[in-house]
Amino acid sequence: MDKKLQEIIENSKNIVFFGGAGVSTESGIPDFRSVDGLYSQKYKYPPEEMLSHEFFLTHAEEFYDFYRNKMLHLDAKPNKSHFALAELEQAGRLRAVITQNVDGLHQAAGSRTVLELHGSVHRNYCGKCHRQYGVETITESAGVPKCGCGGTIRPDVVLYGESLDNDVLSSSAGYVSKADVLIIGGTSLAVYPAAGLIRYFKGSKLVLINKTATPMDERAGLILRQNIGDTFS
Ligand code: ZN
Repeated sequence: MDKKLQEIIENSKNIVFFGGAGVSTESGIPDFRSVDGLYSQKYKYPPEEMLSHEFFLTHAEEFYDFYRNKMLHLDAKPNKSHFALAELEQAGRLRAVITQNVDGLHQAAGSRTVLELHGSVHRNYCGKCHRQYGVETITESAGVPKCGCGGTIRPDVVLYGESLDNDVLSSSAGYVSKADVLIIGGTSLAVYPAAGLIRYFKGSKLVLINKTATPMDERAGLILRQNIGDTFS
């Protein structure tokens, strides 16, 4: 690990980690917005459209076809970044993981305080009666999964055109505003409201781990231009 980062981590008991798609790519989950990710593949509709609120309402069958094939990666295992963050939490150094990923891999690695800005594929619910369902309800059904009440079951994932959960957002802002170290990894910070959350940070050390430049680079105390997996190896 980078010596400066190691020093920062060893001197803090109030670290918050904010992570994006890059955290999960080493687990075999494609980066949704990267050039060689899903967007360059061929579908009848662009993925951004297929994962929108509007599309779910009007084309539920096609939504689920795409979702089951491309969004569920249930064989994926946590990688060294996930495990390293879980260890930091157990060691009393890391207070929370805030993630844009919906794969549940932080919890699978043992992290306890995980704020999922975009929800989780592991949680699903009936749009009508709000009964909760596990992911197996989605994988073990065909077509559009239905609740006993006749309502349509949907993933607890924030679709395009939908707003983020206010409780998750305000809790995330709370952790960020109290942290003395904020480590951001695997995200270009281009996606709202990620960049907005970082404005709450009042601590001393902002660490950015990303292969490409981000809009926050000027504010960072430490920038590591590398894959997040290499950082935590
Ligand atoms: Zn129902």
